[in-house]
Amino acid sequence: MSCRSLGRMAVLLFPIYATLAISSASWAANSPTINANDWPSYGGAYDEQHFSPLTRVDKDNVAKLGLAWSLELPNTHNGATVPLAVNGVIYFCVDQSIVRAVDATTGKLLWLYDPKVAVVAGRKLRNAWGVRGMTYSEGKVYVGTMDGRLIAIDAANGKPLWTQLTVGKSDSRYITGAPRVFDGLVIIGHAGAEYVGVRGYVTAYDTKTGAQRWRFYTIPGDPTKGFENDAMRAAAKTWSGKTWASGGGGAVWNAITIDPEQRLVFIGTSNGVPWNQGIRSPEGGDNLYLTSIVALDLDTGAYRWHYQTTPADTWDYDSSGDIELATLQIQGKARKVILHAPKNGFYYVIDRTNGKLISAEPFTKVTWAERIDLKTGRPVEAPGARYYKSGPKLIWPSSSGATNWQPASFNPLTSLSYFQVVDMPGYLDNGGMSENNWIRPNNQVSLGLQSSAADAPIDAATSRLIAWDPNTQTEKWRVATPGGWNGGVLSTAGQLVFQGRATGEFAAHDASTGKKLWSFDARMGITGAPISFSVNGEQYIAVVAGWGASGAGVYGSLAAQYGWISRVHSHRLLAFKLGGKAQLPSDLPAPMLTKPIVAPEFKLDAQRAKRGEDLYSRTCLLCHGSGAVAAGFAPDLRASSVPLTMAAFKTIVQGGGLLERGMPRYDELSDADLEDLRHFIRRQARDPNVGPKKLVILHEG
Ligand code: CA
Repeated sequence: MSCRSLGRMAVLLFPIYATLAISSASWAANSPTINANDWPSYGGAYDEQHFSPLTRVDKDNVAKLGLAWSLELPNTHNGATVPLAVNGVIYFCVDQSIVRAVDATTGKLLWLYDPKVAVVAGRKLRNAWGVRGMTYSEGKVYVGTMDGRLIAIDAANGKPLWTQLTVGKSDSRYITGAPRVFDGLVIIGHAGAEYVGVRGYVTAYDTKTGAQRWRFYTIPGDPTKGFENDAMRAAAKTWSGKTWASGGGGAVWNAITIDPEQRLVFIGTSNGVPWNQGIRSPEGGDNLYLTSIVALDLDTGAYRWHYQTTPADTWDYDSSGDIELATLQIQGKARKVILHAPKNGFYYVIDRTNGKLISAEPFTKVTWAERIDLKTGRPVEAPGARYYKSGPKLIWPSSSGATNWQPASFNPLTSLSYFQVVDMPGYLDNGGMSENNWIRPNNQVSLGLQSSAADAPIDAATSRLIAWDPNTQTEKWRVATPGGWNGGVLSTAGQLVFQGRATGEFAAHDASTGKKLWSFDARMGITGAPISFSVNGEQYIAVVAGWGASGAGVYGSLAAQYGWISRVHSHRLLAFKLGGKAQLPSDLPAPMLTKPIVAPEFKLDAQRAKRGEDLYSRTCLLCHGSGAVAAGFAPDLRASSVPLTMAAFKTIVQGGGLLERGMPRYDELSDADLEDLRHFIRRQARDPNVGPKKLVILHEG
């Protein structure tokens, strides 16, 4: 497959980090209410380092790490998440925003709370990847559901205590990220910056009552209605055109970090709607506060400062990777910094007291910019990077990002950041898109770019786990990882780095050298990040073995080669301890490749298939995969009998017949639309060049 078609595929990939003598004591000081035996929030503690100070499991004894127990999660739609652990109970959220509490020493289910998102979500179900994490505080578990509700749940029994709808009922906003809690406030953002009419915001609610305390919009609205604050007035000067009427962006879909010491909250904002800046803001401008870190007053939500990683973004370089807090010795001085590796391929060290850039260097191939100028804090853009001015272009990194949301881990003992890097370009083509035709109706993806539904080749990306020194801005070690979509990272004071992978391998590496010291075959691709906690003096490592989110949804053959089939291979929660002797169930199916149904009796119409391809790229591709090759997130339509008969296809697509299993209703599609889709699916099923031929697995059977 040519670079050109690979890049066209990549256009559609979404989103969808000196020596530092920090001790466990200062870790605790940064985390005033957090017990080091627990993992009560997404990043473990307020610094969001995904670091555990526990030392019982270390690099000398990790070979004895074994399975303590496992919990099967059959028919799970999405398992890309990070669990919590508090007082011997694990809380986690998978599938249709279903929350479970499990005894951390036995794996016994204590309670399950199902917010029934499939029934109430409406069109929001179409773009929700699932919930990446939650937060625990003072006897409550807080979850943002796929349909945009924030729910406080009684941790003792799973009963909802209050519910707040944080988004418009029928707008394109939805939630995938974890809320954060501090001092009586619970803070949540939303996703949706690939759809029409999304003006990003972050909102704080009262932990006791759910009442709204403040909301900060990340971009200005309709100027004729006045501005909410001076920050919006200033930002409006960096926009042109009428984006406020239909476009926008700046979703806070992942990174939120609380700095208790400064009483600030740092948010990471997404790219704009549409992606194409030539349409979004035709006269140019930085388009504040897109693709930025914005510091807000914790108590009022008032703007304090911002640092924009990609001014005038037009490549989908969300600044949504973790915002991690650390203290680094820089030129002999202790500096309080933010560590941040957004999708654009640069690693940033930023002074968190004022937002000033300290350093930024690339950790992957970058062709959109030559470097970041430390004097101005701005990128020096490469010629031709703005494809809407100079023509279609293959750009590194792709819109899927050199990193994505998968958590990085900063280990204060080694002073290294550990994270997953994806080396992949994307092809960006303005081709015929303009102010007049970029908007797609009915909550369809609207990027302002030419897009294609072509299958992604199995070698479209390479990836690696790296150790990065933020002080010298250099890579210390690297380990090759499979494909382009793997799990987030945990590091521990036991000098270990844990990561799960597409093949189902869950591995531990020496934090100083990268040497693999231990691994376990989880029999399911891993996308989320592990956690560590302690119960009765025993240290546990836990991870959800679950295949999900955008890479597993969009990637086609690139991700399908690992052989995880939706509704065939179950997801599972795994807990490990030293001397653990538990076994996985003996009857787990081996990874397998989909067998498309050829259906020779189906008379293929090439014109209909072509029309179906266009519709597929805007409606079905996100979950069912590029080229109609499902990567394990949703069923492979080439192998499904449903599209073979119009009646069955109508019942499910127009009628919502499989709503409760996560298949949204598309009642605006006409019978002719469905017929076009059926022809596209059959064309793909018959094409011998579509779909992986070879399976990449750890073990057979
Ligand atoms: Ca984005």
